[in-house]
Amino acid sequence: MKIALFGSTGQVAQEVRRRAPNEVAVKSYGRDEADFSIPEHVSELASKLDVDAFINAAAFTAVDGAEMHKETANAVNHLSVAKLAEVSARRAIPLVHISTDYVFNGNGDKPWTTDDPKEPLNVYGRSKLAGEKAIVKSGARHIILRTSWVFSVHGNNFVKTMLRVGKDKSTLNVVADQIGGPTPAAAIADAAIEAAIALRRGAPSGTYHLSGTPDVSWADFAREIFHQSRMEIQVLDILTSSYPTPAKRPLNSRLDCRAIQDDLGINRPQWKSHLAEVLEELAAK
Ligand code: NDP
Repeated sequence: MKIALFGSTGQVAQEVRRRAPNEVAVKSYGRDEADFSIPEHVSELASKLDVDAFINAAAFTAVDGAEMHKETANAVNHLSVAKLAEVSARRAIPLVHISTDYVFNGNGDKPWTTDDPKEPLNVYGRSKLAGEKAIVKSGARHIILRTSWVFSVHGNNFVKTMLRVGKDKSTLNVVADQIGGPTPAAAIADAAIEAAIALRRGAPSGTYHLSGTPDVSWADFAREIFHQSRMEIQVLDILTSSYPTPAKRPLNSRLDCRAIQDDLGINRPQWKSHLAEVLEELAAK
């Protein structure tokens, strides 16, 4: 099976490349081959690829940056995704796409099911939701995987930020009223590959949630990072309201992941054991 992967330098994409089984040939495409801020680039490239499935892990992921760069965020996360989906529908090449918990407004404390009402709080979330809608509307056979709080050895993420800022500190203030599931990029990569294989075998289109378990606050996530890294740092709980950012964030990012378990047999990853692997790999670097 041949897969074209978009977003070659990202956390999820790098894990897709290194975790793909032998029978799945992954060829990845970065900004140089298809710039997602120019939607025509994406359709041009996708139209000529000889593959069995597309996985799109490219995205404008700078949540605060998107507030200032609305048009680029919309081009990357919506208009280019729409173009990719059009090609996917026209050429009957199934599409796996990664999306986000930020399509929800974060109210309440119940895990979001895939059908719950969407009400993104920021530009990033609105652009990602528009991308999802374009895929569904295109008629392409697709699986959309919504995830949250992604971490890995690659790129920028909360784990690497904590290790960096924690270096010369004995205490650290971390937000404690946003709750969600830290998710290893490795687990999303595995799910994306599984989804592509399932679509190729005729699985129906759908939107699924996949996040790590258990759900925690950013502060508790930070405590676990420092605990496993044997760093003596006291994490102090603060409220989101006392840490203003350009983009508003949802407080409740819990995702109900039962559907992906029922339909595709994919379980929520235990993020603490994945964290141990990531920390070990980072320490060895
Ligand atoms: P990263 O930020 O690690 O990677 C994003 C990728 O998109 C990079 O390869 C980047 O390329 C590429 N990209 C950005 N802009 C363009 C562009 N104009 N043209 C081509 N490529 C571009 O993302 P993750 O791997 O963490 O995220 C994967 C998916 O998961 C995304 O869909 C994201 O929305 C979703 N997600 C991520 C979360 C997180 O915590 N990170 C949480 C919830 C969902 P370059 O290196 O050239 O910039």
